[in-house]
Amino acid sequence: MRGNGFKDERGNQYSRLYVVCDAGIKCRQVSWLCLCNCGNYKTVIGNNLRSGGTRSCGCLQKEQITKEMRCNILVCAPQIDLGERKGVKARHLPL
Ligand SMILES: [Zn+2]
Repeated sequence: MRGNGFKDERGNQYSRLYVVCDAGIKCRQVSWLCLCNCGNYKTVIGNNLRSGGTRSCGCLQKEQITKEMRCNILVCAPQIDLGERKGVKARHLPL
């Protein structure tokens, strides 16, 4: 059963993914059932695990997008805040 290229990945940890068991052949390659840190399961082809192509169930990408959005808000928010304060002062203190 265990032919060329078969590497037992059970119990290995790849970034956020913990390999639970093999999930059969997918696209002529051995795929693995992985448990992500967030609690989701994902089937990943062994090569993608080893190459780092797949590092999470997809939550990692979602978090990165959220972080970028947060950064944009942090960068923009103080400027808006200062501008508004200046505007308020100018209007209320006409000296
Ligand atoms: Zn996840």
